[in-house]
Amino acid sequence: MPNVYLLLGGNLGDRILYLQQARESIQEQVGPITHSSKVYETAAWGKTDQPNFLNQVLEVQTELMPEEVLKRINQIEQELGRVRHEHWGARVIDIDILFYDSLVQQTQRLTIPHPQLHLRRFTLLPLAELAPELVHPVLGKSIHQLLQECRDELEVWEFAG
Ligand code: ATP
Ligand code: CA
Ligand code: CA
Repeated sequence: MPNVYLLLGGNLGDRILYLQQARESIQEQVGPITHSSKVYETAAWGKTDQPNFLNQVLEVQTELMPEEVLKRINQIEQELGRVRHEHWGARVIDIDILFYDSLVQQTQRLTIPHPQLHLRRFTLLPLAELAPELVHPVLGKSIHQLLQECRDELEVWEFAG
């Protein structure tokens, strides 16, 4: 079964609860979660009055094609956003596809690997926890190597709870 790496992120409301609910929905609608990283916290860019982000990477086994994975994670984002978040006008949970096996694909709706993953410490750090040896199929470098070379200065730390 294909292995897909997903990035969860959110900075509004009960951030831990949203991550937990997202994981439950992913288990049900995308496939079994085989590994999950610790939860990491990152200061929000620029606008310092924004709450910090929490991020987590999941390894999921799925029988779904990439487009179907995207459809389901978009639905999960909407479900979680709609319930708690009508008054805010912003998103409480973001779910991105980082890798789908070693697939390389670029369409209008879906780019895999995620085009920004090697530029973001908040993505590379949790990913390196799960898959340091995984080689990026376009850049030809391991996650460990990409993390070492990453210039992103935004601090990322383990979330204490
Ligand atoms: P970023 O992608 O830079 O992290 P974002 O997550 O805030 O930004 P969204 O508004 O959540 O951006 O997504 C915009 C669109 O990106 C989605 O509707 C989806 O079609 C497209 N997309 C392209 N590649 C991917 C991917 N690998 N994972 C998730 N969405 C993707
Ligand atoms: Ca994102
Ligand atoms: Ca997204």
